[in-house]
Amino acid sequence: MQTLTITRPDDWHLHLRDGAALKAVLPHTVRQFARAIVMPNLKPPVRSLADATAYRDRILAAIPEGQQFEPLMTLYLTDNTSPDDIIAAKASQFVKAVKYYPAGATTNSEFGVTDIRRCDRVFETMQQVDMPLLLHGEVTHSAVDVFDREKVFIEQQLTPLKQRFPNLRIVLEHITTADSVEFVLSADNMAATITPQHMLFSRNILFKGGIQPHFYCLPILKREQHRLAILKAATSGNPKFFLGTDSAPHGRNRKETSCGCAGCYSALHAMELYAEAFESVDALDKLEAFASFYGPDFYRLPRNSEQITLNKTTWRIPDEVPFPEVGLVPLRAGEEITWQLA
Ligand SMILES: [Zn+2]
Repeated sequence: MQTLTITRPDDWHLHLRDGAALKAVLPHTVRQFARAIVMPNLKPPVRSLADATAYRDRILAAIPEGQQFEPLMTLYLTDNTSPDDIIAAKASQFVKAVKYYPAGATTNSEFGVTDIRRCDRVFETMQQVDMPLLLHGEVTHSAVDVFDREKVFIEQQLTPLKQRFPNLRIVLEHITTADSVEFVLSADNMAATITPQHMLFSRNILFKGGIQPHFYCLPILKREQHRLAILKAATSGNPKFFLGTDSAPHGRNRKETSCGCAGCYSALHAMELYAEAFESVDALDKLEAFASFYGPDFYRLPRNSEQITLNKTTWRIPDEVPFPEVGLVPLRAGEEITWQLA
């Protein structure tokens, strides 16, 4: 296959940051995707409808002249989120979900929830008004091995949450393990997003020839058996699994340092990376539904009507792209990739 034309995709999990960083990265996403679920982990986070409205306006103002893009907003769940916050958000039409971060799990998560049961009143309201819950599904106790945090989250938090709120629609974000695939398949009102890096790489890449900070993200890359389970789920044609890049820009100096941030930058070349992953298991025919159909179906939004084309051609991923003060290193910087968005 030399060209692949599919319905324009959307990104159902994206970090856009704010200010000059937002202006630097947004054009990459706009080039690839029509819409994106925008994560709320700014500093301070997007906690109320007023915060989401102001952030959405800043994103809209940063869209390059003459281009189309629709940001779908989220609220950051905290111990203090109220049912009224949910009702107001739902009424806005543009807040599409609420994001749960366990306190301390990842970038800017210090405002996150200290105990998920403290949010039960909020979940009750979300279930009533049909507001999806997006989970960063990891426990953060220091006693739990970093490679087991997702599995333990499913056992200790998600399984009981699902029992308490069977009709709450949940997305387990950026899944990384066979355990998550199995759980998502077994539960009703449950979906998952999958990143390109978790389809393409096992944890070996983190230590290939030395420490590789640009492959460090959270949840961290896992064993090869888990990568294969994620790849299989994404390419299975099951609508419970859809595209979410988790593209998370950090300037080069925040990654190449003695205590580097978690996050891979893939907004530049997301569809190319996914195409390569799907092609690796001869499943390019399943890419369109994963990238362009199952996400809007889950969020009860119309599918896009425009199209994009990917060409089979080899190009070199740049060493860095412009970012405030320092450059931004994309995933697989400097390497060749075999698909290119026209
Ligand atoms: Zn994320």
